[in-house]
Amino acid sequence: MTDISKLTIATARDLLRKGELTSRELTDSYISAIEGADALNAYVHKTPDIARAQADAADARLKAGDAPDMCGIPLGIKDLFATKGVASQAASGILAGFKPEYESTVTSKLFGDGAVMLGKLNMDEFAMGSANESSVYGPAVNPWRAAGSDAALTPGGSSGGSAAAVAADLCLAATGTDTGGSIRQPAAFTGVTGIKPTYGRVSRWGIIAYASSLDQAGPMTKDVRDAAIMLTAMSGTDPKDSTSADLAVPDFEAALTGDIRGKTIGIPREYRIDGLSPEIAKLWDDGIAMLKDAGAKIVDISLPHTKYALPAYYVIAPAEASSNLARYDGVRFGHRAQLSAGDGINEMYEKTRAEGFGPEVQRRIMIGTYVLSAGFYDAYYNRARRVRTLVKQDFEQAFAAGVDAILTPATPSSAFALGMESADPVQAYLNDVFTITVNLAGLPGISVPAGQDSKGLPLGLQLIGKPWEEGDLLNIAYSLERAAGFVAKPARWW
Ligand code: GLN
Repeated sequence: MTDISKLTIATARDLLRKGELTSRELTDSYISAIEGADALNAYVHKTPDIARAQADAADARLKAGDAPDMCGIPLGIKDLFATKGVASQAASGILAGFKPEYESTVTSKLFGDGAVMLGKLNMDEFAMGSANESSVYGPAVNPWRAAGSDAALTPGGSSGGSAAAVAADLCLAATGTDTGGSIRQPAAFTGVTGIKPTYGRVSRWGIIAYASSLDQAGPMTKDVRDAAIMLTAMSGTDPKDSTSADLAVPDFEAALTGDIRGKTIGIPREYRIDGLSPEIAKLWDDGIAMLKDAGAKIVDISLPHTKYALPAYYVIAPAEASSNLARYDGVRFGHRAQLSAGDGINEMYEKTRAEGFGPEVQRRIMIGTYVLSAGFYDAYYNRARRVRTLVKQDFEQAFAAGVDAILTPATPSSAFALGMESADPVQAYLNDVFTITVNLAGLPGISVPAGQDSKGLPLGLQLIGKPWEEGDLLNIAYSLERAAGFVAKPARWW
């Protein structure tokens, strides 16, 4: 069997093309790895039969010399993506039994290129959360453990299953989505790479909506090169998503020269938040030094509206969610409650929604409905939208002054214990302080594993780029990755 722990998309692609490996061998290795990893609860629907059929088809294409980069590459797919004929539940009870009749644009692009689907991956319910605790399937578990402890840690959220699966070698890469940090935070917590592209770079069609003006899909991979390869395959305009941008998709892998001499990297002073852990502060300083050594110019910048971003997000995202989730009413999709004699349509809606949605989703729907209500719309929703514009302008001013990318920590801590998020949801919202501004401004952001804390847990640095400049961003991330030299893997306990 192939030693899958050493492979990346890039190395597997080259072996597949040379005929030194078949997609079927590779896929079978992953299927058996997944069978032995139920303790991680990363996969919530396994699709080995589909995977084997796709692998055989990919091998035929490889033999015929018609093989795009993703051909034969085994992937995990976040449960938020509609996959034709395969359960797609957004980890929610309300979508129990839902098997879409259609394929999301992202998965059809990937499968069209010959990629293989190993199964659907765990996540927070409707992508609401930072710890994968709100999943109807129970949390995914981080393959990493703190030194000397066997306590279960969160892989982060909402793309927790994707992060755990990539870190534990249960796929070569995974799809994720990011509304406020859900690709970058779990990537940082598990020592993998995750990029949220510019809003509009990747089609949202067929991705179950959380907050439509913030949601973007992106790859979660073992390294920056793989992120570049997979992002190229996922990107592009789509007539079915009017917010997808009509822009040519560059070959992002070709942008990886590693030469960042002359680039200007901004360090935003507002991200040195009160109580920033000394370990995170040191990681950030180390990252600054690495980019400087590589020839970048480091400048201090100010993003003055940063402190208003989190509250604005927790108005805008629930507002959009309350509207998007109105469609789950027991009529069209998934679950419908058992009704009693005398129940009418209102009881049907109420009982279905009360049973089908978990507590975090219900909280968001209530917040969203409240901030959109006639008496409070101006005070909350409209004000949050104005704050959003100011946050965006902060970034625009920094870029206009010559900054090419911005370096920040990805998260305020390393992976925390499972159970903490449910204990204090408001505290959990603070997890996204460094990532949420990027979604509000629609910018690309990438998390790169850059070090380990004193307990041996991975830590990530975030780079934020200019709109549509993912190639440049990936190249700066590539330079940081090479300097950081993060190669640690979780010790296997599962
Ligand atoms: N943790 C944030 C939230 O709960 C972000 C989640 C996401 O990016 N999907 O809304």
